[in-house]
Amino acid sequence: PVPVLAVVGRPNVGKSTLVNRIIGRREAVVEDRPGVTRDRVSYDANWNGRAFTVVDTGGWNPDAQGLAERIAAQAEIAVGLADAVLFVVDATVGITDADAAVVKILRRSKKPVILAANKVDDARREAESHVLWNLGLGEPWPVSAVHGRGSGDLLDAVLAAL
Ligand code: GDP
Ligand code: MG
Repeated sequence: PVPVLAVVGRPNVGKSTLVNRIIGRREAVVEDRPGVTRDRVSYDANWNGRAFTVVDTGGWNPDAQGLAERIAAQAEIAVGLADAVLFVVDATVGITDADAAVVKILRRSKKPVILAANKVDDARREAESHVLWNLGLGEPWPVSAVHGRGSGDLLDAVLAAL
C-alpha cells in the first residue's frame, strides 16, 4: 500500500488548488463558493518516482455555527487515516481560531506535519509566512498553489516525511 498524505486546513486557504498542483491534474474542485469539496476525496500522486495517495478535505460552510469544531473533527478523521499531514494556512490572512483548532488535533496525533504557507505568490509575500513559525509545527514552507512557486521544495519536504 502506498503512503497517505492528508491535506487539512480551514476553508479557502487553497487546499484543493494545492492538491491539483501536487497531482499535476485539475481534479480537485477549486471554488470560491464554500462547501464544494466533499468531506474526503483521494487522488493518486507521484513525486520523484514515489507514489502516494493525497486526501483532500473540506466541504464546510465558513459561516456555519461551530465551524472551527467541524473543521477540527474532519481533520481528526483524515489525520487518523494518514501517514503524514499537509497543514495548509493562508499566509495572507495569518493564524485564525479555526487554524488553532486544527493545530491542537495535529499535536495530539503525533503524525508528521508539513506546514504549507499558501498564497505566497511573490517574494514580497515571503516575510508574511515567517509568523507561522509561532504555530510550533516547524518550518513553514512558502508556496503559491496557483502559480506553483515553492511547490517543489514543499513536495520534497512531504516525501521526506512520508
Ligand atoms: P480550499 O477551500 O482550501 O480547498 O481552497 P481552494 O483551493 O478551493 O481555493 C480557494 C480560493 O483561493 C480560490 O479562489 C483559489 O483560486 C484561491 N487560491 C488558492 N491557492 C492560491 C494561491 O496560491 N494564491 C492565490 N492568490 N490564491 C489562491
Ligand atoms: Mg477544497
